[in-house]
Amino acid sequence: MKGLKGKNALVTGASSGIGQAIAIRLAREGVNVAINYRSSPEDAADTAEMMDKACGDIRGCGVKDLLVQGDVSQEDDVVEMINTVIETFGGLDILVNNAGIQMESPTHETKTDNFSKVIAVNLTGSYLCAREAIKHFLNRDSQGIIINISSVHEIIPRPQYLSYSVSKGGMGNLTKTLALEYASKKIRVNGIAPGATITPINEAWINDPEEKAKVKSHIPMGRAGTSEEMAAGVAFLASDEAAYITGQTLFIDGGLTLYHDFSEPWSA
Ligand code: NAD
Repeated sequence: MKGLKGKNALVTGASSGIGQAIAIRLAREGVNVAINYRSSPEDAADTAEMMDKACGDIRGCGVKDLLVQGDVSQEDDVVEMINTVIETFGGLDILVNNAGIQMESPTHETKTDNFSKVIAVNLTGSYLCAREAIKHFLNRDSQGIIINISSVHEIIPRPQYLSYSVSKGGMGNLTKTLALEYASKKIRVNGIAPGATITPINEAWINDPEEKAKVKSHIPMGRAGTSEEMAAGVAFLASDEAAYITGQTLFIDGGLTLYHDFSEPWSA
C-alpha cells in the first residue's frame, strides 16, 4: 500500500492474535516492525519467524524486526520501549496500540484491582505509548501515525465486562481527542474496532461449538472475523491511501454493530 515501504512501526502485544497478524501484514508491506511482548520472548520470536515466512525471506523484503519487552501499563517500560525502537530503527513512524486484556465478573462482585488492571493495560497503556510516540513525532518533520485497536465494545455495552467496555469506549475518545489535538502537526490518529475475531483471547468460545454458534448468531455475515482482516484495516489506515482520514474508528465486524435483530421488518 502507498507510503508504507521503509517505515518503522511498533506493534504492542504482537506475540499473538491480531497484533501478530498486524506485524506480519506490515512486514509484507515493507515496514520494519518492533514486536512488543510482555513476558514471552519465544512467542514474539514466533511472530518474527512468521514475518520472515510471509516475506519469503525477511531480508528479501528488506525489512527489519526487533523484539521489545515491555508492559504497556508501566510508564518506565513504555518510555524505555519507545526509546529502544527509535534508537534501533532510527525513528518511529507508526504506533499500533494493540495490547489488551479482559476480565469477566458481575460488576457488583468486581474487585477494584481487577477493574483497574484492565483500564491500566487497555487505556492507560495506549495513552502512555501514544504520548511517548507523539513526543518523537513532534521532534521531526515527517508524519506520525497512531492506530488504536479498540473493539465493537467501544459502542456496544458489554455486561459483566464493565472494565473492558469502559476501556474501549475510552479508546474511542482517545482516538478522537488525539486526532484533533495533533491534526495540524502531521499526526493522524485512527482506530480499528474488531468484531468477534478468532484469536487466543476468545478461547472460551472458539472451541465450543454451542458457544461459537451463539456468537455467530449475532453477526449478520454469519461468521467470526480473522486477524488478517483486522490487519488489512491497519495497513490501510497506516498508508498514504488514508492520508486524509483522522479521528475515525473503522468497525471491521461483519455487520455486528448493525443491530442484527432488526434485519427483518419488525414494526408496521
Ligand atoms: P490476544 O490475547 O491474542 O492478544 C493480546 C496481546 O496483548 C497478547 O499478546 C498479550 O500478551 C498482550 N498483552 C496483554 N497485556 C499486556 C501488557 N500489559 N503489555 C504488553 N502486552 C500485553 O488477543 P487479540 O484478540 O489478538 O487482542 C488484540 C486486541 O484486539 C486487544 O486489544 C483486544 O481487546 C482487541 N479485540 C479483540 C477482539 C477479538 O474478538 N479477538 C475483538 C475486539 C477487540
